[in-house]
Amino acid sequence: MFASLVLGAGPPVDLDWIRTSLLSERQTAAAQIDMVTPFFSRARSFLSRVAVALAVVVAGSAGGSSAVAAGPDAPLGTVRQQVHRAKSELQKQVTLGDYHASAYHPTAIVERIHALESAAAWAELCAAFGELADDELELFEDEVRKPDHLSRLSCAPALLRRIDAYWRAAAGRLAEAHPLSAAPAQLESIAIPVDLGRDGVFTDGLLAEGQIAITFDDGPHATRTARVLEILRVAGVRADFFEIGRNAAAHPEISRQVAAAGHVVGSHTFSHPDLGKLPERHAESEIESGEASVSLALGRPVTEVPFFRFPYGAKTPAEMLFVQKRGNTTFFWNMDSQDWKIRNPHQLFLNVLQQLDRARRGIILFHDIHEQTVIVLPHLLQELRVRGFKTVVFVPQGSVKYRD
Ligand SMILES: [Zn+2]
Repeated sequence: MFASLVLGAGPPVDLDWIRTSLLSERQTAAAQIDMVTPFFSRARSFLSRVAVALAVVVAGSAGGSSAVAAGPDAPLGTVRQQVHRAKSELQKQVTLGDYHASAYHPTAIVERIHALESAAAWAELCAAFGELADDELELFEDEVRKPDHLSRLSCAPALLRRIDAYWRAAAGRLAEAHPLSAAPAQLESIAIPVDLGRDGVFTDGLLAEGQIAITFDDGPHATRTARVLEILRVAGVRADFFEIGRNAAAHPEISRQVAAAGHVVGSHTFSHPDLGKLPERHAESEIESGEASVSLALGRPVTEVPFFRFPYGAKTPAEMLFVQKRGNTTFFWNMDSQDWKIRNPHQLFLNVLQQLDRARRGIILFHDIHEQTVIVLPHLLQELRVRGFKTVVFVPQGSVKYRD
């Protein structure tokens, strides 16, 4: 799981990271790399390493020589055991970083099966999914929806019907407990200009009592980001989005949609690694290429994408210095929705209200990639209005793009 491959003179490239993050996108990844490489030379060496490592992975898979085992004798357990473990694994993790690194994260489980390129393994996966409760199956939704997986999972249409019905019911229960009024809440957001000339680091944003900055990380998502945008538009709310470069490269039109709607788009590295654990040069490549991918998606110079957030909030003193030196304003948060972990919309709603009532001001962290986040958002905006909170959005000072 932690095999590392050193390519050329660059920093080590984690083969499993490449496999997990890019294998299911291999049809399009090479084209994206070709497309973006001429545009930002700072990221070129990093992307070249990704391309080389990707070729190794693809060649390995094509030859059927995968070293990844998911069979009955594998140390991680049978396919069935692994799939059944996904929910308890989520529940036991305290941090998102640990969850992403887990061998029992749904992405890790399904990618191990994918790497086998075995119809029998996919059939075993379908059988295991069939045994899961809805709230366990839901964890695998994004994996099931990936085109490379969809085409191999004969049970996918039936699974997705179940998952859709599960979310409809969960949304219905929240709406029953906390009904939305017929006229959606109107909030509007005050823009707070950020002086880019200073070494800015924001945790609670030094906001006044009652001021809340809503932030979304890890998008853009193929379908959920647009739904978030529509909910914000109806409420008149603007937010700060911190996009993963890889996702912005996959969905540049959605990145542009976010910016066109008046939101501020910052970057969040290229592939969302834990920068606290990476060698410095590799971490710097991640930061630079993430920002370059987002700016390319938006069609703006990198100087127009000055806001940055460390994945998991994890950083080293040297990395903090690096982002400050290159003129980034860095955002953390003082309220965490925990929307990666709290999958039940009603529970998520209550947790966010508790966070808001406790802190009363500051920056709240969401992810626009989760279904439960989309479901709770209109309810939360209504509660903000009812409780008299004001929403604010941080904007780079002097940027023509964000002038009111
Ligand atoms: Zn993140």
